[in-house]
Formats: sequence, structure tokens, C-alpha cells
Amino acid sequence: MKLPRLSPACCVSLCLCVAFAPAQEKNVNPKIHEMMDQVSEARIRAILEKLGSFGTRNTMSNPDDPNRGVGAARNWILKEMQSYSPRLQVRFDKYRVKKQGQRIFKDVDLYNVIAVLPGKKMPQTEVWISAHYDSLNLGTRPAAQGAASGEPSIGAPGNTTANMTVADFERNAELPAPGVCDDGSGTAAVMELARVMSQYEFDKTLVFVSFAGEEQGLVGATLQAAKARKANETIEAVLNNDIIGTDVAGNGRTGNSVVNIYSDETTDSPNQALSRYVKEIGERYLPGMKVNTVFMGDRLGRGGDHTPFQLEGFAAVRVSTPNEIYANQHHATDTLENMSVPYTTRVAKVNLVVAASLALAPKAPAVMALPRQGGAGRGDAAVAQGAGRGAESANAGAAAGRGGRRPTPMIGRGSGYDALLRWRADGPEEDIQGYAILMRQTTSPYWEQEIYVGKVNTYTLKDVSIDEVKLGVKAIGKNGGESLVTAYVYPARAKAEIETVPQ
Ligand SMILES: [Zn+2]
Repeated sequence: MKLPRLSPACCVSLCLCVAFAPAQEKNVNPKIHEMMDQVSEARIRAILEKLGSFGTRNTMSNPDDPNRGVGAARNWILKEMQSYSPRLQVRFDKYRVKKQGQRIFKDVDLYNVIAVLPGKKMPQTEVWISAHYDSLNLGTRPAAQGAASGEPSIGAPGNTTANMTVADFERNAELPAPGVCDDGSGTAAVMELARVMSQYEFDKTLVFVSFAGEEQGLVGATLQAAKARKANETIEAVLNNDIIGTDVAGNGRTGNSVVNIYSDETTDSPNQALSRYVKEIGERYLPGMKVNTVFMGDRLGRGGDHTPFQLEGFAAVRVSTPNEIYANQHHATDTLENMSVPYTTRVAKVNLVVAASLALAPKAPAVMALPRQGGAGRGDAAVAQGAGRGAESANAGAAAGRGGRRPTPMIGRGSGYDALLRWRADGPEEDIQGYAILMRQTTSPYWEQEIYVGKVNTYTLKDVSIDEVKLGVKAIGKNGGESLVTAYVYPARAKAEIETVPQ
């Protein structure tokens, strides 16, 4: 039988189809684009103007004045977010904090403002977008000790508080502290995203939060993170925005389309995995933006509200401008005139596309072997046949705590010289379209190779040595949404105690 001959043009197009069949997980979701387009620079500007109008939002300022101070500010944030959507559950989380240290010079009521948009399919899994609404004016400060003695000062220049007394902080509590950039900018982004995103539905729960007491030592975030840990909440990601309002630094360095994402210094930690996701998704939806992943906990020697969440074991990053103006920080000059609203708007959009992508995607696959009952085999060739589901890391952690075998990832050498990977879904499987394997050199900060393997729970990479590359896996939803990547990280060897015989 004679087969019909394909024309060369047809051949070419067929080949192209095969060669460039779009990896389904690399798409953009038109719904997320639509949301992004609704982020309004005018609204962000109006929020910033209002936040600046409270005179100060210092946590220690008078909370009872209806127009000025921390009380008026938090009431306005609460009411404003309540107006966005009846589906948004807005509340104060209140903590009574005892007098301590220099900055908390009396017992104080601290209110975090929280707006929850419950998810439809995985309401227990949360994605947080956060900032802090409190502000600070340090007044005229004594010269930094370090600078005076000629030692390098690690704090932001002009912000050293080493020589300040309780009396100084008391005096400063009512000074004008507009805090429009620090951190009105983050709070404006949180509020605007609460407004836009509450018009839509997501699989996971979105939490929009503005913390208090950041300037007193991350107090509001520390209490909130501890509360979440105690309640066993599943927080998949915290995107904490702090200082996202300036695009020209005090030294003139500029960058209106770059944002820094601080995670930590541990390779393939959940925080780093989240920062890679921010880059991947952020730059995909906003190709004009550069997302600069900084594998450091924060700006050197300085702090932010993402850290208490990391310390409680949640994946959290700091979203921040690379171009700060130290002269205005914690001063009366931290005003709208001294910042860039278009820049804040762009960074808000990065938050939106990342949070929306996560909240519409499956959970990251689980790769740790479930603890086995009875005696477990040893040796790194043993790939556990984990088939169960659920909160495996918690189980594994508990097993290790009881003195059981250390949890290990389900990765092995297959026939000897291959990479054999196993994983399982963590969450509903019916919405998962398939999985992709990721691979990179150990020295590379980003995944270099991605292989879509379909809806399977194991895959062998022939002739790939697990001894010299990093490997990970992610789930792709039927809607094209991509989960975070779970990396195969082998636990560090514990220090051994060797018994010797006296001689
Ligand atoms: Zn701040």
C-alpha cells in the first residue's frame, strides 16, 4: 500500500509540533493575568496617603486618638479590608505584651490585622502575603558606637540604636513617623491584593496580614508565627513585604524593575525553594521584572517579619527593594514624596502572580520515606517503598524524635548507576495532571533541566549519578498550575560516638 506522502511543509510543522510541544507546566493562566491587571497604582497611592496621614503608627503611640496614632491606623486598615468582599474574613489578632527591653517600655496591646480568603479545595493549606503597619521615628540619635570607635557598623547607616535609652524610646513614640515606605509600602500591597484577590476563588486559603510591633523586635510576627505553629496550621508560603517603596538608593543606584527575595543560606531549604518559585513565576508573568534571589536570611545583620515564620518551620521570604534610602528610614522624611508608587505597584504584582499561582496549584509532592514499622534496612541503596499519604514530614520528625531511623528521601541508584526517584501526592490527586523532574548541578542556584514525566509516582533517569547533581520534583495541576519543587535532600550524617578499649 502506498502511503500518502507528506509535503515538506507538513513535515516541518509536524516536527515542530513534536519538538516544541509546549511543556504544559510552563504556561500562564489568563485568570491570573486578569487579576494582575486589576492591581491599581491609584489605589495603592491612596492607601499610602492615608497611612501617612495618621502622623505615627508607632506601636507604643497613643492608641485612643481617633485620627492619630497606632489605634486609628489599625482600625482603618481593618475597616478598609472588611469593605473589599463579604468572603474576606477580617479580624484583629490581639496580644497583650509585657513591658520588656528598651523599646517596649510599658505593657502594650498589639493588634495584627488579618484577612482570610478561604480556599475551596484545600482550605487547610495557606499562602500568606504580609507586611507590617507600625512605624518608627528614632529622633536625633547619638552617634553610633561602632562609627565613633572606628569599627564597622553593620546596621543601616544612621539607624544604630546602641546608645539609646528607654527614655529616648518613650520620647520618640509620638514623633512624626509617616513610615510610608517602611512599611506603608508593604501594607498597601497587602491591602490592594486583598481587594483584588477577594474577587476570585482559589483552591488554597489566602491570608493577608499586616503585623504590628515589627519595630519593637518582630513582636507581632513572632507571636503570630508561634500561634500558627501551635495550631498546627499548614502555611505553604509567607511572602513578607518590607520596604518595597523606593527605586533609587541613597547613593543614586537605581532599579525600578528589580526586587530582592531574601531566603536563607541553606541549599535547597524550603525558603530557598520558595524564592526560586518567586523568580520562576514572577519573571514569567512580569518579564520586565528581574527577581533577584538572595540566598541570605535578610540584609546583613538586619531583621524582618519573615524570620519568625522560618524559625517556626514555615517557608518564608522577604520581598524588598535593592535600593533603600537609609536617610529616610525611621525618620519623619519617610514620606510619599520620597518614594515610587509605580515601583510598589510592580512589586505588588509579583506578589499577586506568585500567591495566585501557588493557591491554584497542587501541593508540592512528598519525597520523604514514611517511617517503617520494625527494623529498617540501612544503606543508601535502599529506596523506601513509601505509598502512604499525608503529613509525612511531621510523622518522620516524630519518629526521629523517638529515636527512630532518620527520615530519608526516596531516591536511589536503581540498577546501580541510575537515578531512581519516587514521590507521592500530598493532597488531592484527582486535580494533578502529572509531575516534572528537575535537575541541576550542585553549584547552580537554579534548576537547569526539567522533564515532564506524566502522572506517575516513580521515574528513573538512566545513567544519571545521584552523587553529583541536585534533583527535585513538582506537581502540575490539570489547570496548569505548578507546585513548589520538593528537592531530594539527604539528611546530614549524625556525629558518631565510637567506643574504644583502654590500653
Ligand atoms: Zn520595616
